[in-house]
Amino acid sequence: MILIKVNVGIIVITSPSPDAKDCSYKGGECCVNKILRNMIRCLSCGDIIESTYVHDYKVCRCGNVSVDGGKDYFKRSYPADRSQVDSYEELSQWE
Ligand SMILES: [Zn+2]
Repeated sequence: MILIKVNVGIIVITSPSPDAKDCSYKGGECCVNKILRNMIRCLSCGDIIESTYVHDYKVCRCGNVSVDGGKDYFKRSYPADRSQVDSYEELSQWE
């Protein structure tokens, strides 16, 4: 996982890992072989946004959260003064 703090908020990038089957972390994002859906719901405005291809950058209506990466990686941004858990609900699917 790479954490980059920028003035628009925090950006998190996680990539599918070939070691997913051996990983004991149950949270999911770092432990996927294949991304099926790359999608979150903003907890401020309720928008559901999905990135369907690699540079498909989507922002919710209120601008608090974004997704990117399509089927290649999970990229998220959320406000710097909030936690990830308070900013969006993860709706992605992977295997
Ligand atoms: Zn929003």
